[in-house]
Amino acid sequence: MPAPSMERVVSLCKRRGFIFANSEIYGGFVSTWDYGPLGVELKNNVMRAWWRSVVYEREDMEGLDAAILMNRLVWKYSGHEATFTDPLIDCRNCKTRHRADHLKDRKSTNCGSTDLTEARNFNQMFKTIVGPVESEENIAYLRPETAQGIFVNFLNVLQTTRRKLPFGIAQIGKVFRNEITPGNFTFRTREFEQMEIEYFCKPPKFLQPGEKNDVELHQEWVDQRFAWYVNLGIARERLRKRDQTPEELAHYAKATVDIEYLFPGSLGFSELEGIANRQDYDLSAHSRDVPEEDLVRLKLQKNTDSTTKLEYFDDQYLDPVTGKKGARYIPYVIEPSAGPTRATLAFLCEAYDEELVSEPKEEELKPLREALAAARKNIDKKIAEAEKAAQKGGLKGDAPNPDHLRSINQALEKAEVGLPNSLLNIEDACSLPGADRIELLKKVRQIAGKLCDDYTRVVLRLHPQLAPIKVAVFPLMKKEPRIVEIARQIRRDLQPLMRAVYDDTGAIGRLYRRQDEIGTPFCITVDFETLGEKEPELKNTVTVRDRDSMRQERIAISDLRNFLMEKLK
Ligand code: ATP
Repeated sequence: MPAPSMERVVSLCKRRGFIFANSEIYGGFVSTWDYGPLGVELKNNVMRAWWRSVVYEREDMEGLDAAILMNRLVWKYSGHEATFTDPLIDCRNCKTRHRADHLKDRKSTNCGSTDLTEARNFNQMFKTIVGPVESEENIAYLRPETAQGIFVNFLNVLQTTRRKLPFGIAQIGKVFRNEITPGNFTFRTREFEQMEIEYFCKPPKFLQPGEKNDVELHQEWVDQRFAWYVNLGIARERLRKRDQTPEELAHYAKATVDIEYLFPGSLGFSELEGIANRQDYDLSAHSRDVPEEDLVRLKLQKNTDSTTKLEYFDDQYLDPVTGKKGARYIPYVIEPSAGPTRATLAFLCEAYDEELVSEPKEEELKPLREALAAARKNIDKKIAEAEKAAQKGGLKGDAPNPDHLRSINQALEKAEVGLPNSLLNIEDACSLPGADRIELLKKVRQIAGKLCDDYTRVVLRLHPQLAPIKVAVFPLMKKEPRIVEIARQIRRDLQPLMRAVYDDTGAIGRLYRRQDEIGTPFCITVDFETLGEKEPELKNTVTVRDRDSMRQERIAISDLRNFLMEKLK
């Protein structure tokens, strides 16, 4: 089961140190987030998993790490200075800003008003000054995508690696966009990483028999990238491929497929990655001496500043007419472009689960049932009062809204009928609009909260490759130095192989819950049996508990490495 709402994920991220609001002690900084101790591990694991999949596990890829600041001419010829803009619209009624392409029927998504300004283009690149003098010629941009660093290094990589087409270059790095409407937690921010690939291939005209064309290679990348998310735990039914419509498609792109994830709440299906077939647009844009007909075809301005032509010498090409061997041309490019911060959010939403671990006895539920009944009766009374007041002369400004009250009562009734499985829904019912004004719900919340602590757990079912911590080691008794020393030694031995932590700050049950909540796949407990005093055959064994099944196995300490490495593979 994925997260029921984004709020649950946000709250977990904050509570457990995945993601914090940036500059929080100064009131925060709009839509900017810091990755805490667990968040940095998770995001790094996402980026590592991507690098492993697209660089190490293929034979046709190289890596690159280009600088964030680049010569301004890069952004002139790439087209970003002129066209990397969003259409901005203001609502005159509620003064909010919108992206024109995000509005439905030209209505403010905030207040519904149609009193909107005309759209005006707003460039999303952040400007900065390089050097001490604030002058026009010292302007530089913080890169809004990593791709251009790859294009301008095309020849460097080609020449130093002696690659033949098709081959690709992968890069991960920070980018900056002055988004008009950031939000939805980390989904849209102004500073984020990108994981981008430029996969260079032959234009159709230069293909040899049996070689794959750009359309087939594009499809292969779409399928490979889709499978990557699935292999790391995203359910197929919450992932989709969407072809960009002709209106969305850039004029030079033959096709673009977006991979979208079904986020909880209002976000719904939203883009994780775009895979574009960009043909020879980008390398031509940065090349000098591009023939006039290609400039017209690609709608490019003539490049008078580049010192070179970004072309490839194909020594295998045989001209069918002249029989001449060899040809020089500008390659086509397929661009899979993903965002690790969005992917991290999707993996968190997907992995989030809450479940009843064991059933409370009926007598333990009784106080909750009574509190629920009392609260519902009280709310019924308030509904009747509110209706009466409405008949007499309308509701006063501060009167409870009867519709809100009815929704709360329905939710409470549903929760009461569904007990004990519905224990986890009570908090949601108590958080509906208007619920904070009902005194009796405080008691419901308190009793339900205690039962949740005792009988339910939050578990992040993250793929082991992504889990921030792979294994946690606990001593059953922290006052027994022999047990503590063995536990610490196990952690030290495992750490070179996987992220391992030691924890003795609570009772074992509580320690398990804490690790479940952050997605640790395995917990190891060192206990009295490990010392082998009563049962010598158990000497030097420990229990290993599995996060998902909660099953425990007794394993010899000497087998731990192999056991865990096998499971984490
Ligand atoms: P959108 O339409 O959502 O603004 P885009 O189509 O402009 O995105 P691209 O330029 O294709 O996005 O960027 C590639 C990837 O970078 C996106 O699929 C997304 O994962 C990530 N990305 C883009 N903008 C943001 C942002 N503001 N915050 C976080 N990630 C982003």
